[in-house]
Amino acid sequence: MTRELSHYVGGTHAAGTSGRFADVYNPSTGAVQSRLPLASVDEVRAAIDVAEAAQIQWAATNPQRRARILNKFVDLVYANMDELAALLTLEHGKTFPDSKGDIQRGLEVIEFCAAAPHMLKGEFSDSAGTGIDVHSMRQPLGVVAGITPFNFPAMIPLWKAGPALASGNSYILKPSERDPSVPLRLAELFTEAGLPDGVFNVVNGDKEAVDALLEDPRVQAIGFVGSTPIAQSIYATAAANGKRAQCFGGAKNHMVIMPDADLDMVADALMGAGYGSAGERCMAISVAIPVGEETADVLVAKLTERIGKLRVGDGMDESSDFGPVVAQSAKERIENYIQVGVDEGASLLIDGRGLVVPGHEDGFWVGPTLFDHVTESMRIYKEEIFGPVLCIIRAKDYEEALRLPSEHEFGNGVSIFTRDGDTARNFTSRVQVGMVGVNVPIPVPIAYYTFGGWKASGFGDLNQHGADGFRFYTKTKTVTTRWPSGIREGTSFVMPEGS
Ligand code: NAD
Repeated sequence: MTRELSHYVGGTHAAGTSGRFADVYNPSTGAVQSRLPLASVDEVRAAIDVAEAAQIQWAATNPQRRARILNKFVDLVYANMDELAALLTLEHGKTFPDSKGDIQRGLEVIEFCAAAPHMLKGEFSDSAGTGIDVHSMRQPLGVVAGITPFNFPAMIPLWKAGPALASGNSYILKPSERDPSVPLRLAELFTEAGLPDGVFNVVNGDKEAVDALLEDPRVQAIGFVGSTPIAQSIYATAAANGKRAQCFGGAKNHMVIMPDADLDMVADALMGAGYGSAGERCMAISVAIPVGEETADVLVAKLTERIGKLRVGDGMDESSDFGPVVAQSAKERIENYIQVGVDEGASLLIDGRGLVVPGHEDGFWVGPTLFDHVTESMRIYKEEIFGPVLCIIRAKDYEEALRLPSEHEFGNGVSIFTRDGDTARNFTSRVQVGMVGVNVPIPVPIAYYTFGGWKASGFGDLNQHGADGFRFYTKTKTVTTRWPSGIREGTSFVMPEGS
């Protein structure tokens, strides 16, 4: 019998009632391991009822008490780390240590959000006018919702839930239907940590559930992460419905390699950044831009040698460098792009199609793939492949290497490898991309900075986590106060005389 998953509403599991389900696979075996109920509009509305009722008391709980619950949650997740990471690997396919990293990077944001009492402090101006003081306060929005992608089923829900909950909102998470078990388990741990029932809810579903969240006037804010077309459409609909929205989309992240870079360091960095997690990271490097033909030739030789040693296999196998891709449809999309690259005239140096992993013949495998002599006009350069496919574009000079990521449709992450501080400084200042690494291949900002791409990688004006997270999940109220002359002048301690 296939296991049936649930929603999590009001501090407890709730069976689906819509009669619609999605299959959840083990990507390593290709087998269906559970089925997930897809919420109806009524089920979403019922969850919003619960979240709305719970939010009032939660908002009235002082921020320090809210933060203590977040701290307890962090302890519980650490105590259950191995179980959570194994669950994550089972549905996503990434390796067990990588799953731990997924959870850890989410927890770091929760740890940061324990600073809520400080982050929620307002401003105060004494005597802004004669006898007039002005102060501002940050108040929660109410019920807020998050819609998250498959590729970080722990980290991204926690990036959003942390500041939302710490600020006194109640939260409805609509996780990816591909790997919902970790979000459900995190909901249980929030309850165990003492979070009041109904403050953190998980509603599983597809477009129907998302549309219900977008249309309900009680949902005040939508935080989305996923592919660009969906991000853009959710941003537009949320805005049209009067909601606050931050929607993060796809990526095509470049690494510029200057001739003075340490090319062994670059090649090692590209193994992890290009192929780690089967390239299914929004900050994965999918384009390498060596500057100069000699840099390119040496780099290609070093990459080819290293790729030959990569091990692709089950995520729980300690010797695996990366696991399967998430779905059969993802495998087909990636293999199709490899063929597109060949047809467009790029040089396919290493072809990851047709990989067989003994004992896991039906898994969703794609091996590491390397294209050289890619050009700007090719689809494999312009579009997000989201798989273990690395493209090399050879730039003739620094200005060309700077122009490529700057003019690309996407603007999530970029990095430069060089030993020259002046080049690095010029690059970080001029490149038109939201997150930049200098000799750091995947520049994911730490919890107390903010995460967000530019151009088609992000819609909205506030980033995720850091101070922006608190800004996004609160509204500012500004109070101007003047007190009329009171007791100081008007009170008399002698018996009033009759007139
Ligand atoms: P996706 O867009 O298919 O799905 C994301 C979420 O949207 C899921 O919860 C899904 O159920 C929902 N969804 C899908 N189709 C929908 C529709 N038509 N209407 C309403 N909701 C819908 O993305 P994915 O495949 O889960 O994740 C991979 C993508 O996410 C990649 O493009 C990757 O670059 C991107 N991503 C971006 C960031 C970032 O911070 N910019 C981070 C991680 C992933």
